[in-house]
Amino acid sequence: MPLLEIENLSVQFVSGQGRRRRVLRAVEQVSLSMEEGESLGVVGESGSGKTTLGRAILKLWKPAGGAIRFRGEDVAGLAGARLAAFRRQVQMIFQDPFDSLNPRMSIGTAIGEVLAIHGLRGKAERAARVAELLQLVGLPGDYAERYPHEFSGGQRQRIGMARALATGPKLIIADEPVSALDVSVQAQIINLMRRLQADRGIAYLFIAHDLAVVRTLCARVVVMYLGRVVESGPTGALFENPAHPYTEALLSAVPDVDADLDPGLAPKRRIVLKGDVPSATDVPRGCPFHPRCHRAQAVCAEKIPPLRNVAEGRCSACHFAEELLA
Ligand code: SF4
Repeated sequence: MPLLEIENLSVQFVSGQGRRRRVLRAVEQVSLSMEEGESLGVVGESGSGKTTLGRAILKLWKPAGGAIRFRGEDVAGLAGARLAAFRRQVQMIFQDPFDSLNPRMSIGTAIGEVLAIHGLRGKAERAARVAELLQLVGLPGDYAERYPHEFSGGQRQRIGMARALATGPKLIIADEPVSALDVSVQAQIINLMRRLQADRGIAYLFIAHDLAVVRTLCARVVVMYLGRVVESGPTGALFENPAHPYTEALLSAVPDVDADLDPGLAPKRRIVLKGDVPSATDVPRGCPFHPRCHRAQAVCAEKIPPLRNVAEGRCSACHFAEELLA
């Protein structure tokens, strides 16, 4: 049984009434699944729906349609003790954990609160567990006395991890956890996440706009555009040969390490995406990507390309996916 199964999930935000009524389709018919201990990358520009997807899994947004199942159980129907158990098993970390930390509360108190909410009531027991969690993420146990402003960006992200780990989760939804950090600190956090995954069997749904970061941690990737999945597949194959022009454009922006190391190699051609992501209240007809697509043809403005299998383990929502893969 998969750890997480999402089937045709849609999340909509409605504003205004009558003629002013607008429906923002933030997530549209998304399906994916994850196994225990797996890392799945979800990538796309801002406005692609990836953060809304993460929050919907946590029951922070109510779906307009579709289903989310965690270890086979329908998340929508969870209440009481079962909902509390689900909340222990699925945690989230954010781009800047500072936003979710009270500046007037010591780190030990902030992590201790999580332990108390989830049933660890003894004060001494909690203090010992906080020190243990800090050490687990590479910080000295006595940092518990310190306040959020005393930490660097990388240390704050470690604290965010410690807080998430406090409940013994099976799945961590990591929303752009390293995008605000320097490259060297990014690598340290990714290595920490990898070590915790190997030691504790944690699965990550890793949300990022930067494909390079996803490459180092995730075995599979889902690419989202305007709330829809436009491509999915194993990370290696997708990086090697994308089956959707949007993925192709995102990949062209990833620094080319091989060409940097070998001046004899031709540098990659950068595909610059035209304009911004359109509003999800006004999705273009036909292929939603066609106004920005460097491969668009007449049919693209008329016919919606369904997401379909285009090679083993790979899906694409492009009329010309096979030509891209050839
Ligand atoms: Fe581009 Fe057309 Fe493919 Fe859409 S269907 S991604 S517009 S080539």
